[in-house]
Amino acid sequence: MSIYRSLNLILLGPPGSGKGTQAKVLSEKYHIPHVSTGDMLRDEVRRGTGLGRQAKAIMDRGELVPDEIVGSMILHRLDKEDCARGVILDGYPRNVAQAGVLDGILAELGRTLERVIVIDVDDEEIVRRLGGRRSCPKCGRVYHLVFNPPRDGKTCDDCGVALVQRDDDREDVIRERLRLYHQKTAPLIELYEKRGLIVTIDGSQPVEGVTGSIIDALGSPLSA
Ligand code: ADP
Ligand code: ADP
Ligand code: ZN
Repeated sequence: MSIYRSLNLILLGPPGSGKGTQAKVLSEKYHIPHVSTGDMLRDEVRRGTGLGRQAKAIMDRGELVPDEIVGSMILHRLDKEDCARGVILDGYPRNVAQAGVLDGILAELGRTLERVIVIDVDDEEIVRRLGGRRSCPKCGRVYHLVFNPPRDGKTCDDCGVALVQRDDDREDVIRERLRLYHQKTAPLIELYEKRGLIVTIDGSQPVEGVTGSIIDALGSPLSA
């Protein structure tokens, strides 16, 4: 598979930096699942579960869902067999408390964190990206109206379903999410820097360039 016996990664970066886009590609290349707490929460919302109803109002304001809720979702997900050889975490952890919970879960499961990849993109570019973000309500594939459009400009290449805009990709909510990123999530960079886990990638490159930089930093999935 790769030079790693297992590969547990965190993708860290502001909303819209390309975590989900990169995670999907890396998941196929390294054969490890993409675990996104945002996707898991949106799935709960779609299914209209109690948790989904509780989370929806919080997400629509751009605030963070309580740590206990996402912590228990992550615990159950990482405990599944398909995560035994590694995982790509996207959107978790999002604050120092969640990083502590993750350490506990990984220790319990006998796993280690190999790398924390920071995707660096400035706030102006973020607003451009999130304004044009559209996704497939069926398969979750993410597009951009200008940077990464579907073939016909409006429906998913894979499903033919009309693309939708996320309720939280509105300018005022984007600003709140960015504020919370800088306040709560960015401090994790220093925390993981102290453990020597951080790799910083220039996220302003085109999608393929970002993927190439990440693979350069991690080592090719084909080596060894
Ligand atoms: P983004 O595209 O902004 O990175 P996500 O899809 O990761 O967004 O998350 C969307 C929303 O889901 C967040 O604004 C937050 O309300 C909620 N959420 C996702 N992951 C977490 C988490 N780890 N802790 C708390 N809330 C979360
Ligand atoms: P995140 O998961 O970090 O919130 P996404 O992967 O959903 O970010 O990307 C946000 C938006 O930016 C999407 O519309 C996506 O198509 C677009 N995008 C992602 N990576 C790039 C890139 N390198 N260059 C231009 N647009 C990008
Ligand atoms: Zn689709």
